[in-house]
Order: sequence, then C-alpha cells, then structure tokens
Amino acid sequence: MLTVCNFHYIRRDFNKPYPSIFGVTPDEFDYQIKELKKMGRFITIDELTTDIDTVLADKRHHLLVTFDDGLKEQFELALPILEQHRTEALFFINSMNFIDNKVSMVHKIHMVRSEVSPNEILKEINKIPNSQQNELTPAEFSKAVAHYRYDDQSTACLKYLLNFKLPKSSLDIVINALFQRNFEEESVADTLYMSNDQLRYLAERNMLGNHTHSHFALGLLPKPEIEEEILKTKSFIQSFKKNDNLAISYPYGSAEACGWPVPEMAKQTGHKIGFSMERGSNDITADKLLLKRYSSNDLPGGKNYSS
Ligand SMILES: [Zn+2]
Repeated sequence: MLTVCNFHYIRRDFNKPYPSIFGVTPDEFDYQIKELKKMGRFITIDELTTDIDTVLADKRHHLLVTFDDGLKEQFELALPILEQHRTEALFFINSMNFIDNKVSMVHKIHMVRSEVSPNEILKEINKIPNSQQNELTPAEFSKAVAHYRYDDQSTACLKYLLNFKLPKSSLDIVINALFQRNFEEESVADTLYMSNDQLRYLAERNMLGNHTHSHFALGLLPKPEIEEEILKTKSFIQSFKKNDNLAISYPYGSAEACGWPVPEMAKQTGHKIGFSMERGSNDITADKLLLKRYSSNDLPGGKNYSS
C-alpha cells in the first residue's frame, strides 16, 4: 500500500495583511515527517518509478512525499529536512514559470488576495461589463454569508464570487490587473520559483516531476492543448537530465481536472505514474495514472488530522 502526502507552501512566516496563503513552517514539516515515519517507510523514487506494482501489492505501508508547483521555498526549507531524514521526494514543476518567467494564475490569486483588501478586489470586479455575473443575487448573498461564516461580509461575498460565480475569463482580467498594480511579475517569478541550479540538482536525482506547462485544469482543455501542456514540461525536465520514468501530477487534481482523456494522454506521452488530489491511499487495485494523494493537512502531524 502507498500513501502519498502532498505539500505546497513551506514558509517560516505566513503573516500577510489579508492571510490567503496557507502551508506549513519548517518545524511543522519536520514534525510531520517524524509522525509519518511512525506509519511506515518512505520509498525511494527509484522504487516508485520502476517497481510500483510491488509497492502497491505489498501489505506493508509505504509512504511518499510530493510537492506541487516548483516553489523555491520547497527546495530551500523542506529539502534539507528531508535529506536529514534520508528521504526522497517528488517535486512537480510548471515549465511556464521557468521558460517564460511568468507567475501561475493560482499563485497570482493567492498573492493578490494576501495584499489587496476584499473591497478593492470587489471594486475591480465591478469594472467588468456584464454585471449580472459580477454581483450576487439575494439568494447567493445568503449562501455566501452562510458558507463563509467565519469571514466578514465583503470577504464572504468576494470568496463566493471568485470560487463559484465569476467566469474564468473575468477572473483572469481582474487578477492580472491587480497583480500588475501590486507586483513585478519577473521578480516574483525569480523569487517564488526554483532556480535553474536547484532544478538541475533535483533532476539529477530523478526528483523532478511534470505538473504541466501553465497549471491549467487539463480536463477542461481540447486534446491537442492537453498534449502540448504535458510535452512542454516533459522536454524542459529532459533538458536537465534524460528520465524515462517521469511522473506527472495533474494541476488542481480534481475529478474535473484529470478526467478522460487526461490520464490516457499522460500515458501516451510516456508517463507511467500520475497523481490526482483525490484523497486516499493506493493498493493493488489503484489506477497507476490516477494515484490518490492526501493534502498534508489530512495526515498524521497535519492541521486537520484527528486520530
Ligand atoms: Zn499545482
């Protein structure tokens, strides 16, 4: 059996004017690795990619740590802790961050929401024509306030709009405008994502994985674009070191983001192992191109875990 624990942000300090970035501190990470070790043994990347059937069939509990999004903090703060524990991990990267020096929309949203007040974001949303999609109906307003009951009213409305109502094209316009006003994209890309030397270090140890080029939900794209998204990152990783056993993690990892034909296309492009974000462990019945993962919060040592 294989249980996979996935991480995103690793920071010493998550304090922001409007906290919207969540993750673990290095101490919390170290604690969780120790807790996970009590459950079973960490597999090597070689075992994962060349002997996955044995791992899945084994009654013993095998563990793996993964990181999505290629963040520099993962390399600088988490990797040294893993190395102290003599543990390997997979780091899934988006090649757009390195080839184009661009920041992924998912990170732009987190950064804008950390620094810009909900009211200012709502003002920007209201500038978009077609106000029906920008404003909540009275019924939606009630739903928003009930759903986000721990937030103040404008934050609740904003979250509802961003997560359930605003079309993606409008969301992109709003976030890009606010991001450009508050940040400098190239310098954010340089500080947020790993350097070439860091990527090379991981590639040489077969610890780099494919998270696709642009961090889009693949399942919503036409087939040729899915293929392009996967192949661009594959060849970027191969430019550091040839690796015939590349693993892939599908951005967002939801049923919608990795539905048909996404796993088939991952296989056709030479990936034998793929990861979703469906919660659960994996046994002999698992689909190797749709392996389940837990968010670190849900496993022992994590914030939401209760035994
Ligand atoms: Zn991601």
